[in-house]
Amino acid sequence: MRRCLEVNNLEINFKTYAGTVYAVRDVSFYLDEGETLAIVGESGCGKTVTSKGILKLLPKFITEIPRGSIKFNGRELLYLKEKEMNQIRGEEISMIFQDPMTSLNPTMTIGDQIKENLIIHKKLNRVEAERETVEILKMVNIPEVEKRIGSYPHEFSGGMRQRVMIAIAISCSPKILIADEPTTALDVTIQAQILNLMKKIQKEILMGIILITHDLGVVARIADRIQVMYAGKIVETGATKEIFKNPKHPYTLALLKSIPAFNSSKKSELYAIKGTPPDLISPPKGCAFAKRCDYVMKICQEIQPENFEISKGHISSCWLEHKYMKEGKDNE
Ligand code: SF4
Repeated sequence: MRRCLEVNNLEINFKTYAGTVYAVRDVSFYLDEGETLAIVGESGCGKTVTSKGILKLLPKFITEIPRGSIKFNGRELLYLKEKEMNQIRGEEISMIFQDPMTSLNPTMTIGDQIKENLIIHKKLNRVEAERETVEILKMVNIPEVEKRIGSYPHEFSGGMRQRVMIAIAISCSPKILIADEPTTALDVTIQAQILNLMKKIQKEILMGIILITHDLGVVARIADRIQVMYAGKIVETGATKEIFKNPKHPYTLALLKSIPAFNSSKKSELYAIKGTPPDLISPPKGCAFAKRCDYVMKICQEIQPENFEISKGHISSCWLEHKYMKEGKDNE
């Protein structure tokens, strides 16, 4: 598979009245064509900031990117002018936001919102755009398309609005779709339909998907690889099966432990990770998870952990994976 996105050593800061927030700290990852990468972590871990950073959708007056590179098909996005970036957005890289009600234009019919995209990006005329809009709405399973094309967003249910968001996002057959919590507001049945739909479209147009979520159930269903973020850093990454079967980082272990057990016979309290994430105005000197970690050691508070390769593509950023720690364990 061809690599379509490469992010290297990305740092994103926000200048606020309280001080500089170091929101994304030395983040590197990639995405291949047709692949689904899930970025997981608690709110504020930097997953949405990273993805909005790729599309340069962060507020300019407070955002600072002091270091890093974002290459899309070999082209550096950080140096592109706004006009060039506008072409990439929607046409090459699309984004679906969490709440379709606030992302759709309430004053335009859903048909017009898709048509507008096709006219601007694909340079279609009105008749061609109308025809293609019908096809796209059928593709995302909107019933009675010819009737519903003239409806406004408020006339649709939550699931249908999310389908419309997907329709807009895929209307120009993007190479990458960034989906930020695309199914959070939906019930499980609709959630499954939306995820299946995204997978189906992905196969058809070989689109890479970056799925941002805190829902590990969704991740297990559709992601090929997982990237766990904590306090602006990637703490563990690897193939989905490997991370679920052999999680290494204590934060990943804690996230997995906090999934409610569906078939548990015992009445047990739901596990919650103690404490709160650190303040990113003054990030800790050592491991950012140290204050909440059950395995914390002296070194964790002093020095940031290195990245340790567990197996091919599986990396954990935790001192427990240092060879001396492992030797110690082996000698026990
Ligand atoms: Fe816990 Fe230390 Fe690993 Fe951080 S480096 S996750 S504090 S054991």
